[in-house]
Amino acid sequence: MRLNLFWKLGFAFFALLIAVLLPVDYYAERNLRRDYERAGFDQLSAIARIALASPPPVSSLSTNSRTPSPALREWVARMAASDVRVTVITADGLVLADSQSDPQTMENHAGRPEIREALAKGDGLSIRHSVTINRDLLYYATRFSIPAGPPVILRFAIPLRTVDDEVWGFRRRLWLSSLAMLLVTGMASLLISRSFSRRVERLQSFSRRVAEGDFRPIEADRSGDVLEVLAASLNDSAARLDRAIRTVTEERDLSAAILGSMVEGVAVVNSAERLLFANAGFAEILELGAPPQSGSSLVEVVRQTQLLEAVRAVLKGTPRVQAEIVTGTLRQRFFAVTVASVKATENSGAVVVLHDITDLRKLERIRRDFVANVSHEFKTPLTAIQGFAETLLAGARDDPQNRTRFLQIILDHSRRLARLTDDLLELSKMDADRLDLEMDRLSVSQFVQSCLETAQRSAAEKHLRLSPKLQESLPDIAADRRRLAEVLQNLLDNAIQYTPSGGKIDVSASSDGDEVTFTVSDTGIGIPLADQSRIFERFYRVDVARSREVGGTGLGLSIAKHLVEAHGGRIWVESEIGQGSQFHFTVPVFQPQHAATRAVR
Ligand code: ADP
Repeated sequence: MRLNLFWKLGFAFFALLIAVLLPVDYYAERNLRRDYERAGFDQLSAIARIALASPPPVSSLSTNSRTPSPALREWVARMAASDVRVTVITADGLVLADSQSDPQTMENHAGRPEIREALAKGDGLSIRHSVTINRDLLYYATRFSIPAGPPVILRFAIPLRTVDDEVWGFRRRLWLSSLAMLLVTGMASLLISRSFSRRVERLQSFSRRVAEGDFRPIEADRSGDVLEVLAASLNDSAARLDRAIRTVTEERDLSAAILGSMVEGVAVVNSAERLLFANAGFAEILELGAPPQSGSSLVEVVRQTQLLEAVRAVLKGTPRVQAEIVTGTLRQRFFAVTVASVKATENSGAVVVLHDITDLRKLERIRRDFVANVSHEFKTPLTAIQGFAETLLAGARDDPQNRTRFLQIILDHSRRLARLTDDLLELSKMDADRLDLEMDRLSVSQFVQSCLETAQRSAAEKHLRLSPKLQESLPDIAADRRRLAEVLQNLLDNAIQYTPSGGKIDVSASSDGDEVTFTVSDTGIGIPLADQSRIFERFYRVDVARSREVGGTGLGLSIAKHLVEAHGGRIWVESEIGQGSQFHFTVPVFQPQHAATRAVR
């Protein structure tokens, strides 16, 4: 690149020089030659004038003898003293004398142009090659009139070489100085081109750096020429590019972070039904493993026909489509699908948003089941009360034996209704977060003892052994005594009810420092694994008939769960069919700083 520029500059300069030199050379040579010739002729004409002023003696100009007379020879020699060739020729062209040749050997000169001109006009000029002395000469001839006879021509000549030498001398100087100029300017152009090339190379490497993403500015160039302006504007563009790329990158990272952290699934589909983007949420919801590659076909990725149909409807022109999909087989999850058309690029596309509505659907199901369960639970005692009341009215009141039995049945069912109503009221209070807990510092052993006392009687009736197994020196707990007793009572009632007589029920408590874990274990009928996660739901019973038989409402465990959680604890079950069940619940240990505080739930 550097050489290239140098040679380009050099060649341009050389061509320019030649273009100027050639015409200069041509015109200078012509003018010089003309001036020298003119000066030569002037010199010759001056000599001629001198010669005419002191001409050769007329007597010596006789044509009779071919040998010049001594007088003529002496005159010729005198005239030729200043390096001039002198020739004397008759009007017929006969050479009478010559300063450099023997006239006898010389041919007739009548045809020479200068002779003819001189005879005609008085004097004549010519520049030509002399055959006689074999040289280029400048000739000047003048007519010397003789009163008694034909005129004689006196001719003077100087060699042309002198003119040529002068011209060549000038020419040599011209070319030599031009060559020197060429060398000097060549050096200068080499230096200039080198520095120029270096600066251009710096700009080149700077632009390469910018293309690779390094936007540091190029060092300032203080030359004040166009390259400095170029460097400044490149710096400016790089800085602007840097800012723009930073902004775009930040915006992209922000959008990526937002979309990545969203639990909702988001995907963008182009008009050819190919995925342009899908976030982690989308992949997780549709159980795809990793987010699908950009450009993969939607049909290959998505199996849910409702989703595909919604996307197709939007791609065909519907601005917005809502749908619902279900995923998972064992644990079903429900998602609301919103597909909206998007015109971010030239081609239209669709943006898909998947929103988890599993909890909503679950709540809806629970509400439906609850209403059905409540109606069902009320129906049996109400039907019984109604039936026995009608029977009494129809005449059974007069039958003292049956009357008491029927009234007893009516009373039992009313009590059951009252119990159901109480439980439901309590649950609804808990749902509405209106459960007031009166937190106290409780001693675990005292608390367990008081609950066992109540349960002891029913256990003894069923011939069950009921015994506490408490860890030594348990910390006190923070709880609402009445509510927590309800929980333990409930678990004990269940254990007594679902354990055949002769069984064993243990109440144990242990602590890890933060909380106390209570466990009620029995040797009863146990609970199937599939039901274990559901027995804390309202009205859920493993064996409905058996539960009713023992007066259960199916609400006990769900109330217990609510109460334990209101205390900040957890409740869970471990059970094996035929072996027995262990119900565990935790209660936080009493902390002095919480003394006398009343938690409102
Ligand atoms: P219920 O009023 O029917 O006892 P719960 O909510 O207290 O209602 O209990 C729900 C169901 O859990 C019961 O119907 C019963 O099937 C099962 N269950 C609870 N405790 C035990 C236990 N100790 N042994 C076996 N099954 C139990």
